[in-house]
Amino acid sequence: MKGWHIHRADRSPRTTRAARPAHPQRGTVTTAATPEQPADVVARLRAAFRAGRTKPVAWRTDQLRRLRALLTEQGAELAAALHADLGKSSTEAYRTEIDFTVREIDHTLGHLDEWLRPESAPVPAHLGADASAWTQYDPLGVVLVIAPWNYPAQLLLAPLVGALAAGNAVVVKPSELAPATSAALARLLPAHLDTEAVAVVEGGIPQTTALLAERFDHIFYTGNGAVGRVVLRAAAEHLTPVTLELGGKSPAFVDRDADLTVVAGRLARGKFLNAGQTCVAPDYVLTDPRTAAALEPLLKSAVETLYGADPQASAEYGRIVNERHFDRLSGLLGSGHLVVGGGSDRADKYIAPTVLADVDPKSPVMQEEIFGPILPIVTVDGLDEAIGFINDRDKPLALYVFSDSGATRERIAAETSSGGLGYGLPLAHLTVSDLPFGGVGESGMGSYHGRYSIETFSHRKAVLAKPLN
Ligand code: NAD
Repeated sequence: MKGWHIHRADRSPRTTRAARPAHPQRGTVTTAATPEQPADVVARLRAAFRAGRTKPVAWRTDQLRRLRALLTEQGAELAAALHADLGKSSTEAYRTEIDFTVREIDHTLGHLDEWLRPESAPVPAHLGADASAWTQYDPLGVVLVIAPWNYPAQLLLAPLVGALAAGNAVVVKPSELAPATSAALARLLPAHLDTEAVAVVEGGIPQTTALLAERFDHIFYTGNGAVGRVVLRAAAEHLTPVTLELGGKSPAFVDRDADLTVVAGRLARGKFLNAGQTCVAPDYVLTDPRTAAALEPLLKSAVETLYGADPQASAEYGRIVNERHFDRLSGLLGSGHLVVGGGSDRADKYIAPTVLADVDPKSPVMQEEIFGPILPIVTVDGLDEAIGFINDRDKPLALYVFSDSGATRERIAAETSSGGLGYGLPLAHLTVSDLPFGGVGESGMGSYHGRYSIETFSHRKAVLAKPLN
């Protein structure tokens, strides 16, 4: 069918000479695109799962090592694709996508045996002293991972690491809005991983819709809440469990006692990474008017320190993914008064790192997740009003608190709900592999990373044993 791009490296002797490119690259496995329908892909992977192919821990660790080799040996290819899609610098591509995934693999390889160990449970007296009970992790089966465009490699590969480590067969669907990365993944993954158990399906809404009609044993979706609802509805047909990694407006509360030079530097770094297209980026700043006035010039100089006087000329500053998002963001530049930035260039999909002060909570920039390089500052009277402001809105994916006051930190922790909570440093909690990463309420359901990926992609089976005599 036209428009289908399902990638499979056929390494069997049946591969015909004609199917091979005339000059295969030395050292790489030939990849042939096979026109295969989603139902066929799922059936093929399910057969592999039923045959037990993915269950041995040796298979899982072998797949993880192969994925690691892909990232270390072909990282430059992925970095080039990320640059083509998002203007990501090579440093940023390695730090936030390629090396990030390598670390997740290493952490998993280092702990997998321990995580998979059955856990014994105390047995009640009425079952007798010879009874025993434990839980064990069973792989789920065939898992679907749907990834977004903003960290198009990391957000496809990190869930894949967990799904493989838990012993599943996996279909991965890269985002069509990051086409170079999608194509690179579709080329590289089948060349490195076991194609009987891992498949890449490229495409947009029609392809994803067709995939969602199939029965999976888990669906792991990262993206926006509107599509999250589409995924959840489709999953309901098959009673398939779902993880939704969504977004929303993540606030940053700045207390009047904070060292504002440090705050400005960390806020700017966290906000303008990937041109603000980060699900856990600080969406807006909440602070009192006096602190806001002191923070504004410091944010201006923090932006200049990071990207120079002309960020458009900085190799470290990214671009907006496409014209649709550029136009959406351009419409948000008019709120409040300009502290720094405000410039844009549609032909280059460039929007300057921008800070807006005195922003009215009713203004357009405060209505939806910004997902771009615009940082509004909204003023509140103090902590009580800040907590009220946060609780009047959807539960955010992340909440950041810049305060050295233990009482302030504790009040925010106790009186608000968010996927993650960061004291003093935005974004960094998601790099801690031993912390679960995920949202709550509108920002998502379920979590992953490290051992939490094993929880997500396994069934924890309850077992009771009683000797027959
Ligand atoms: P996107 O447009 O790339 O969509 C994500 C995936 O959904 C893609 O693979 C796409 O093909 C698929 N899709 C789109 N429309 C569909 C439909 N109608 N039916 C089925 N599938 C469909 O990415 P996006 O949604 O623009 O991503 C940005 C959002 O994701 C932001 O809200 C951001 O906060 C959130 N996000 C969350 C995380 C997280 O880890 N929680 C990470 C990154 C992004």
